[in-house]
Amino acid sequence: MTRLTVPISANSPEQALQQIKAAKKAGAEMLELRTDYIEGLNADLVKNLVASVKGSKGKTTPVIVTCRDKRQGGAIDYPLKLRMEVLIAALKAGADFIDFEYDNFLTTENQEKIRLALSQSSMARLILSAHDFEKKFADITRLFRSISTICPGTIPKLVYAANHINDCFDALDLLHRTSGERIVFCMGEDGLISRILAKKFGGFVTFASIDEQSATAPGQLNIEQLKQLYRYDDIEPGTELFGVIAEPVGHSLSPAIHNACFTEMKMNRLYLPLLVRGYKREFDSFLNNVLLRKWLNFRGFSVTIPHKRNALNYAGTNQGFIEPLAGKIGAVNTLILRSDGKVKAYNTDYSAALDAIISGMKIKKAGLKDLPVAVVGAGGVARAIVAGLSDAGAKIRIYNRTVEKAQKLAAEFNCESASLDELENIDAKLLVNCTSIGMHPNIEATPVSEEYLNKNMAVFDTVYNPAETLLLKNAKSKRAKRIDGVTMFVNQAMAQFKLFTGTDGNPTLMRKTITEAMVY
Ligand code: NAP
Repeated sequence: MTRLTVPISANSPEQALQQIKAAKKAGAEMLELRTDYIEGLNADLVKNLVASVKGSKGKTTPVIVTCRDKRQGGAIDYPLKLRMEVLIAALKAGADFIDFEYDNFLTTENQEKIRLALSQSSMARLILSAHDFEKKFADITRLFRSISTICPGTIPKLVYAANHINDCFDALDLLHRTSGERIVFCMGEDGLISRILAKKFGGFVTFASIDEQSATAPGQLNIEQLKQLYRYDDIEPGTELFGVIAEPVGHSLSPAIHNACFTEMKMNRLYLPLLVRGYKREFDSFLNNVLLRKWLNFRGFSVTIPHKRNALNYAGTNQGFIEPLAGKIGAVNTLILRSDGKVKAYNTDYSAALDAIISGMKIKKAGLKDLPVAVVGAGGVARAIVAGLSDAGAKIRIYNRTVEKAQKLAAEFNCESASLDELENIDAKLLVNCTSIGMHPNIEATPVSEEYLNKNMAVFDTVYNPAETLLLKNAKSKRAKRIDGVTMFVNQAMAQFKLFTGTDGNPTLMRKTITEAMVY
């Protein structure tokens, strides 16, 4: 059983008691008293603090007492002698676990003192920890073996900084290969999945802070994120995994959307943010790592900037299935992992946009044939929408700031091209904004002046933050039909959800989740 453990990083005993109350209220299953944060530290102070926590009324929460060496991430640089006195006092006061650095335990003198104190405590256990704040361990298996065997009953704790998501596989492999009580995870933004997945693979604890201010290590999530966003209470060994591959990934709304639907539908599935830094090589390596480890139980991915083309190339070399139009668009935003190790690649962006247009204009797909369309922008989204509309037979003119890019895209899909200045002569029944103009925080900007809009036009803005952009506000005042970017976003997430699970998600819940998470 994995215990959700909250570090108490207070600088006074009074503040520690307040943090403990907040941690228990938030759902902490174990507490870690980081005594190295307390100013004016002494053994009596820790003894009283532990005694008051363990002696409190009601069900007591297990407590780990740590007084971390500054060289291994400690807050205040207390001498080793004092740190050992503190741990021994904590044991006498009833602490359930003490956490001591493996390096410091190697000296005979320290080892004897700790062993003696443990032998005088009936229940308490020793956690021996090793940290690397810069990189992964050279040989994590050997280190794990050394720590596990040095003292019977010890819980080994191995924590290192991941500099890339691919560094997490050492920690996950170790958890997979071993059993029993052990703590193994990676620090930093790149190590995030190892913290969340510790529960799936039976890690002894996973750490979460009460809030951002009280976090004690890089990349530590807070309890609310872990429980609400990442479905902590529902994670178990059989949980199927999904995620969004991107760089950056922190802003992505996809984990919130998909996890909200998994929770509502009581599905044993979890959707993760997957920060894959780098280019094709790093992307390929991440997918190879996942495919080599079927036990991870990854089933599918959303893919976004900058990896959409990498995903297409990967599916090509993996001899998987590629949806024909995705090949023509040159980008894939969804990968499904088959049980035979092949991947299926799709692009749900163009169909999401086409569905939004058809329902917003109240027409059938056949109504797109010969429809005059103005597409503003010539980037990735424009490319998907132009491919979809041109496949449906629309007559498209692409307007872009960099005219050469518009010309290139137009040549590929047999369309016309123009500069942004030519928007004043716009003559289209559908206008689609595929630029980022009008997106938060630049909400006072619009790609097309109000005077060029008219009531016979449908206006589709792919920007979804905010949902009602200035372009759409202006279209409203001209009484034009309006289609917002949230509709497209929900459509593409719905299509992905169907590919992932074989069932429909809840579009209303998706829309609500997106609008609640929006920053404007
Ligand atoms: P992209 O590949 O970087 O293309 C950006 C486009 O915007 C280019 O055509 C660029 O013109 C143009 N542009 C950017 N800033 C400009 C400015 N200040 N003035 C004039 N043109 C400007 O990005 P993308 O992936 O296509 O995404 C574009 C937008 O689509 C995003 O910002 C997002 O709001 C929206 N989007 C919506 C959804 C959805 O589901 N609703 C999904 C993804 C994206 P140049 O070629 O001249 O640089």
